[in-house]
Amino acid sequence: MADRDQIPRRKPVPKAQNQSQTPAQPLPEGWAKDLTHQFRRTLSTKRMNELSSRPSSQRRSSSRIPTDYFVEDRQPPPLPPRHGFDASTPTPAQPTREAPPVPDAQQLLPQLPQVPPPAYSSLKNLPTLPTAPNDAKSLRFRSMLLSLSNTPCKWENPGLLDEALGAIPLQRIYEEAQEESDLFAAEAASMGSNIKPAWGYQDCVVRALMKWFKRDFFEWVNNPLCSLCRTRTLARGMAAPLPDESARGANRVELYQCANQHCQSYERFPRYNDAFVLLQTRKGRVGEWANCFSMLCRAVGSRVRWVWNAEDHVWTEVYSVHRKRWVHVDCCEEQWDAPLLYTQGWGKKLSYCIAFSADGCTDVTRRYVRNPAEYSAARSRCSEGVLMHVTREITALRRRDMDKKEKFRLNADDMREDAELRKIIIESLAFNISRLLPGGNSTRSDPDAQKAAEAAEGRQSVRSRGEGGRNQHTGPHDPRQQ
Ligand SMILES: [Zn+2]
Repeated sequence: MADRDQIPRRKPVPKAQNQSQTPAQPLPEGWAKDLTHQFRRTLSTKRMNELSSRPSSQRRSSSRIPTDYFVEDRQPPPLPPRHGFDASTPTPAQPTREAPPVPDAQQLLPQLPQVPPPAYSSLKNLPTLPTAPNDAKSLRFRSMLLSLSNTPCKWENPGLLDEALGAIPLQRIYEEAQEESDLFAAEAASMGSNIKPAWGYQDCVVRALMKWFKRDFFEWVNNPLCSLCRTRTLARGMAAPLPDESARGANRVELYQCANQHCQSYERFPRYNDAFVLLQTRKGRVGEWANCFSMLCRAVGSRVRWVWNAEDHVWTEVYSVHRKRWVHVDCCEEQWDAPLLYTQGWGKKLSYCIAFSADGCTDVTRRYVRNPAEYSAARSRCSEGVLMHVTREITALRRRDMDKKEKFRLNADDMREDAELRKIIIESLAFNISRLLPGGNSTRSDPDAQKAAEAAEGRQSVRSRGEGGRNQHTGPHDPRQQ
């Protein structure tokens, strides 16, 4: 009985109850079986190791795994796994044959506290039910998200998009895109008749656009150079915007002074967030870059998202028609589909990554934080239920005037994305658990992780040339102005 005392939340739950809560996921059956098997083996191996390595006097005191580890505050502990994992059973039973292919992510995750090493604390980020915000903190976060959500709506302006198309060397972009998509097609053809090219023409247009944007169009500014003598300048704090700066939408202006003793003139750096103005100024830091570039992606006809990260970054996501999924695009780093750049590449911890588009709002953190144990920062701005409520609220607002058919299509896209994000997390869990197994491999052959490492290396070299400097962000904390 001592064994049983150590494992909380093992009450058996009637099968019917569990099944009714678990929608079947359209994933391969063999895969689910493997995962189940891995879970079982890990749990029982770990359990056995624990039991054999501790004196019996210590066993009782170890039953301190918090029961609210993965769930919202004030909610009851999650139900035990539907597969009936029993960590205290040294020889696990065979997976039940009638089990549907893959358990729902939310059902799977609560089992993990029983496997301490990867402490997936942030998996509590998977909410179960939307909850309306009712405390001051949640309400503040909600108004901030609502305000951020306006950014991509401002691009839905035919006059702006026309102006943008006028600024883009379209012929050059289209030619480059054609050339590259031909290469992808040839590459696929060389691998067999049924192979789909890696990327389609629309993807290649955005890739070419990004290359041009970073290399030829937009300029990165840390401290602006003195416009009189081209000497470097020193930061001198903030200044009140001049009337024409205000008129163009800058409510913050950074002030710099020329370091040349004989000049010492002042240089102003107004932080604009109007994409129209940015087409003319063509400079800034990550906020200006992501704003202007995302708008240009819209101008060339892609569905686009502006992704706000609570730490200090913003980037773009473009919907790939060819791949039927959202693709990460960071124009500052000239990175395409490298979502692990920030975590595995730069070693950053991320809390919230929220994607806003003209037709919705989605929490896409799971795309960027694959290993929450290592790379997740605390999500404390509101409860997960509230975040779910607010993202749905914004989405409903954006789709309010759409016709039924359009809404239906967008909902289908959303569901596909949700399945994709869940799969990412489950695969990541499976990988981490497999590492714990005897003889588990600790090196990862994940192409995304590989890409992130390469991207991070590339960034190092850029920074050593003095062109990067994301970390030199000095302005006050306006998320739109990073
Ligand atoms: Zn000067």
